[in-house]
Amino acid sequence: MSNQELFDKAFKKYGGRFDLKLLSPYPYMTDFLNETRLAIKIVKEHHPALPEIYIDFIDNLSLNAGAMVIDGKGFIGINIGTYFLLLDFFNKVFAKKGLLESFGDSLQESEDEIDLSIRLNSGTIIFDPTVKEKVPNDPSRQFWASFCHTLSMHFLVYHELGHILRGHCGLIGSLNGNEPILEALSNKELQKLRYNGIDALFMQTCEMDADSFATNRSFNMFGMFMQNSGQDHPIKTSVPNWDSFITIWTFAIYVLHRFYGFDNPAETNYREGTHPPPTQRLIMIMGNIHSIFEGRFSREQVNRDFPTVLKGFELANQCFSASNFFSNGLGSIYETTKNIELFNNREELFKNWNNVKPRVQPFSFDSDHPPYVT
Ligand SMILES: [Zn+2]
Repeated sequence: MSNQELFDKAFKKYGGRFDLKLLSPYPYMTDFLNETRLAIKIVKEHHPALPEIYIDFIDNLSLNAGAMVIDGKGFIGINIGTYFLLLDFFNKVFAKKGLLESFGDSLQESEDEIDLSIRLNSGTIIFDPTVKEKVPNDPSRQFWASFCHTLSMHFLVYHELGHILRGHCGLIGSLNGNEPILEALSNKELQKLRYNGIDALFMQTCEMDADSFATNRSFNMFGMFMQNSGQDHPIKTSVPNWDSFITIWTFAIYVLHRFYGFDNPAETNYREGTHPPPTQRLIMIMGNIHSIFEGRFSREQVNRDFPTVLKGFELANQCFSASNFFSNGLGSIYETTKNIELFNNREELFKNWNNVKPRVQPFSFDSDHPPYVT
């Protein structure tokens, strides 16, 4: 069987492979797949034990992405709807006059209301192709929209890759013969996992680990880019240093997570669910960025860089407030960081790594698995 056929079979119950030939033209999506294949190849150079991985699009309405390992081969499926949903959001917020003014010339853009091509249907975000597309007028804002889209999509891919590399998929697959994927476990699968000592906190810890891998990987890639590309590279002229990268990256990643919703701490049970609430994930990603820079730069520089993280979040908040989709119920992440229950849940997740590590490590392909927490 070809990789495409194996992939389609693996993701059959999640909608199967989405054939790009159904869309015409589709060069950008092919470019995206090729870029991610290259990114996975670079990860494999660092972790030679990583199995061959095939990545493609899936046709699913609710699942953003998923990963699995079958017969020693890894598969990553990305929802085609997520690709368009994020592209639509970034294009439309950069096509709005007066929004994101520090990027290019917002005066060239339109004053029309932002009408996103997404709808909320029984708690599931769906893409509505009947709403018109929009692209920024200013070419430099077209660049920013496309760059943000790339950053968020790559984070999604790295997150799934993290599930394979760090042994989460291997462990869950070994306990549940029918190769379930971590992002969409059925009640029956969850029951079976609980019987094997894998509870919600365990799953959430794996998600934290995958986010941490994705964050570190994204920053490593930019570090490599900074070192290896010439001064006249088109991305380098727009994103010349770490400050500008942190702002735009956190903006893009915040948008990605905010599509999963905003949780009000007073109404959220943090012990439920296979994923930490989106707000909690964002706070942990903030902490992760902080620790990346603590190891690399002086204390003074870390203090300087941290506000740039918040700047990215703030810009994204402004975009959501200006759009038609998230106008209600959007809470403040800064308020949330002060919530004591969230803090306790975070502490619990960090410490739980010591329980998760010995179980996932036998299935890990990571040459240096994260150390125990002391
Ligand atoms: Zn995940």
